[in-house]
Amino acid sequence: MPLLPLPALADNYIWTLSDAGPRAIVVDPGEAAPVLAAAERGLQPAAVLLTHHHPDHIGGTGGLRARWPDLPVFAPHDDRITIDCDRVGDGDTIETGGWRFEVIAVPGHTRTHVAYFGHGVVFSGDTLFSLGCGRLFEGTPAQMVSSLDRLAALPANTQVCCGHEYTVANAAFARVVDPDNQALAERSESAGALRRSGQPTVPSTLGQELATNPFLRVDSDAVRTAIAGRLGRQPHDRTETFAELRQWKDGFTA
Ligand SMILES: [Zn+2]
Repeated sequence: MPLLPLPALADNYIWTLSDAGPRAIVVDPGEAAPVLAAAERGLQPAAVLLTHHHPDHIGGTGGLRARWPDLPVFAPHDDRITIDCDRVGDGDTIETGGWRFEVIAVPGHTRTHVAYFGHGVVFSGDTLFSLGCGRLFEGTPAQMVSSLDRLAALPANTQVCCGHEYTVANAAFARVVDPDNQALAERSESAGALRRSGQPTVPSTLGQELATNPFLRVDSDAVRTAIAGRLGRQPHDRTETFAELRQWKDGFTA
C-alpha cells in the first residue's frame, strides 16, 4: 500500500496510506490545504485518524469535513478534540474501508495520545520520532517509557510514521549520547543527504529505531554510560535513565 507523507505547517507530516486505488487513510491533518491539494491530484480521503489533540495534528480536520461531509474521523477520548468523531481507546480495533488498525494508548507527550498500528505501519504521532521521542507535556517519564516499550514490541519491520521531520536535529543529539554507534552515524549521514535534496527522512523502520534511537535504548550500555556521566553515578533504573535523557535533550542545542 503506498504510504506518503504530505508536508504541512512548519515541519509536520500528514500521513496518507492508500489502498490499491485512490482511496487513502489520512493521519493527523494539521491543516487541510495539503490534503485538498493531494485530492486535486486524485487522492480520495476514506477516513481520518487523529493521534492527539494538538492543533498541528488536528487543525485541518474541519476543513476536510467541509469538503467531504461523510468522512469518518477517529480520535482518542479527549474533550479538547471537539469535532464529531468516533472515539477510540487502547485495545480497540478500527475497521474502515479495507483498512484495519489496532489502537495503542501511548500517554506521555499528552495524556490521551494514541498510536495506530496496521498494514505493517505504525502512526506514532508525537510519541516515537525518528531518532527521538516527544516532549513530556502531560505525562511522566514512567508513562512515556511504558508507551515506548509498547511501540518497541511491534514487529521490527514495522514502518514508523511520525508526526514531524525532526530526524537531523534528533541525530545531532543521539550522536552525542551514543558516539560509537555506527548504524546511528550512517542514519545521521543519510538523513542529512535526504534533507539537502528536499526528501523526507521518514518512514524509518522499528528495527532501525531499536538500533539507533537513544530513547529506545535506555537499557544499552552506551546510553546508561552517558547518563551515568551526567548523574555522577549509575542511574537507579531505566525510568531514571529515560527521564535524565529526556531532560538532557530538552536543553540540548546542536
Ligand atoms: Zn504534539
